[in-house]
Amino acid sequence: MPSQPAVIEVAVPRPLRRTFDYMLPEGERVPAPGTRVQVPLGRGGVVGMVLGVRDSSPHPLKTIDHIIDDEPLLPGDLVELALWLADYYHHPIGDVLNTVMPVKARRGAKAEPVDEVVWRLAADTSDADTALARAPSQRSTFDRLRRLGPTADAELATLGINRQSLAALVAKELVERTTVAPRYDARASHLEPTREQVAAIAAIVGSLGSAATHVLEGVTGSGKTEVYLRVIAEVLRLGRQALVLVPEIALTPQTTARFAERFGATATLHSGMTDPQRFDTWLKCRNGSHKVLIGTRSAVLAPFADLGVIVVDEEHDGSFKQQEGLRYSARDVAVKRGHMLSIPVVLGSATPSMETLENARRGRYRRLRLSRRVAGRAMPGFHVADIRGERLDGGIGADLLRAIGAHLDAGNQVLAFINRRGYAPVLLCADCGWQAECAHCDVKLTYHRQPRQLRCHHCDRRRPVPRECPSCGAHDFVLVGTGTQRTEETLRTRHPGVPLYRIDRDTTRSARRLEADLAAIAEGKPAILVGTQMLAKGHHLPNVTLVAVLDADGGFLSPDFRAPERTAQLIVQVAGRAGRGERPGEVWIQTFDPDNANLRALIEAGYPGFVGSERQRRESALMPPFVSLAIVRAESSSEAAALELLGRAAETLTGQGLELLGPAPAPIARRADRYRSQLLLLARRRRDLHVALDRLERADPRARGVRWSIDIDPLDTA
Ligand code: ADP
Ligand code: ZN
Ligand code: ZN
Repeated sequence: MPSQPAVIEVAVPRPLRRTFDYMLPEGERVPAPGTRVQVPLGRGGVVGMVLGVRDSSPHPLKTIDHIIDDEPLLPGDLVELALWLADYYHHPIGDVLNTVMPVKARRGAKAEPVDEVVWRLAADTSDADTALARAPSQRSTFDRLRRLGPTADAELATLGINRQSLAALVAKELVERTTVAPRYDARASHLEPTREQVAAIAAIVGSLGSAATHVLEGVTGSGKTEVYLRVIAEVLRLGRQALVLVPEIALTPQTTARFAERFGATATLHSGMTDPQRFDTWLKCRNGSHKVLIGTRSAVLAPFADLGVIVVDEEHDGSFKQQEGLRYSARDVAVKRGHMLSIPVVLGSATPSMETLENARRGRYRRLRLSRRVAGRAMPGFHVADIRGERLDGGIGADLLRAIGAHLDAGNQVLAFINRRGYAPVLLCADCGWQAECAHCDVKLTYHRQPRQLRCHHCDRRRPVPRECPSCGAHDFVLVGTGTQRTEETLRTRHPGVPLYRIDRDTTRSARRLEADLAAIAEGKPAILVGTQMLAKGHHLPNVTLVAVLDADGGFLSPDFRAPERTAQLIVQVAGRAGRGERPGEVWIQTFDPDNANLRALIEAGYPGFVGSERQRRESALMPPFVSLAIVRAESSSEAAALELLGRAAETLTGQGLELLGPAPAPIARRADRYRSQLLLLARRRRDLHVALDRLERADPRARGVRWSIDIDPLDTA
């Protein structure tokens, strides 16, 4: 029996860089870290999280109202991870817990998983052929469900299964609704792994049960996913769980379905879920009933009973970095978690990030290569199209227009990639040069034709297109530059008989629409695809033989230090969509700057060639991964106030081994009427950076109406 009542350290869900102490109620057992407690705070009460116990307190304390969980809601390793996140990202612990816990958990909901609705084939489906002869959509849903086995209701959307067809199949008594949970069982693969796949699988499987980070560097279509599947099958055989992080789930139902077919079931965690769904999935990972979780960024913070491996697919993808609140990198957190749990982490990509490659070079990560496409398929050939002095139509030069025609005539599909949505990025008065700008941001408005309006791509405000110039009254406007809608218009006009699919954030609000488009494209008839980077993500498009990158320059010339890397990755990823089927592919890259060093390196020596030259540039410019970088940002409706606060922050931060750049207004200083300023911090030794930021946290500079934040390992400096 304790001689004095215990003092409990509690984190409360407030953006505060401190915790609070409370007395334990009379007669209660000391709760373990990770247990939720209802505590008084200010004039109200909140759900807090126990972090630890102390013997006594110098001050009189309030008492915990009640203890919510019998067992800690957060397993010990997640409590430890949360503390590490607060420390490493210099973020308030209360807010870290807000990020780690699902909404329902934060509101104190009971930690009880529920039986979910599951769809499966009826016991007798002998008359399926006759019943579905005239219902192709129901037929395809039926066949998919047969391949998948019993499927949880929550997963229908991510697997691209049509609910209406399902309802029709229930009416025909071919499908039934139950609550019997799907069973996980790894089914054998009929594919014979290549030599390189065998080596990669052996290396990863050999490291199960220890902390090892593997970089699986495999060109597009080299069979990385097959490696993940085989490693996970082994992990399941050992009775453990697997976590797969992906950039997008809603947009890649093919991939999710591959996992579900191989393992009998999968669970997914992503932003499209309702709060109850998220909490339920979270609880079933925690109690071990979900064995394979596929999720976007935040899934790296899910609890597991016995996690055996973490896979980060497309590890270079920017979506793994959270850009607000707790600005964590899910990839880096995955590596940290792997260390904490002594399990391997696999970072897969055709275009690994500079950071990951540098970690591999220094021997921290192990490098595994898949250098060839499976089934001896060739990598596409590159062709640089110099468009200086050319008249472009829809952003396309004459030679490329001819090439597109030739590929379509040969019965193939063509993909035109332009990383800008809308019709034209600038609307300009031909008389006086006035340009349409957002009234709330320092950017131009993009002209959209479907529907016809001006849109701000930063604050999403919309405005009607003016009839006359607000500055001089003239009626003559010029549309400068090209977005996906303009390219679509040109190609539709030139090839009226060929179906065209535009794929960007404006057309692809629903996964089902994209899935329907991809299904139509998969039929293989001649087709034109026009799209943004959404098209670059993982889709398997076997009949595309020509990939055209319409504007390679934009990215290479941007001032952000990571822009060349991002652009090279994007080009390689889009190019990877070409020639994945039987027919070889070809990639055209249009440029006004054919001698650009980055572009030349990429064309002549591929992504590794680009990395070689980019590495030297970063090293001599003292940029990551050769230094550690952090940004302190401040925003306010007053530009002066934000800058003034950062000026004070700079004084606190100044110290040995640190270089400070700024404070200065951000490149796009005003967004949605808020002025943003920033201060860059560079350090040779990461420790120096953290010591200085600890000082800043303690100083906690304040000014009316100014919000400031710390971004560790920021993705962009713009
Ligand atoms: P990646 O993830 O590297 O893009 P995938 O794993 O999706 O590559 O493989 C590309 C295609 O090749 C898929 O259709 C897959 O089924 C097939 N594939 C993978 N491994 C093999 C193999 N060893 N033999 C034959 N086909 C394979
Ligand atoms: Zn004018
Ligand atoms: Zn705006």
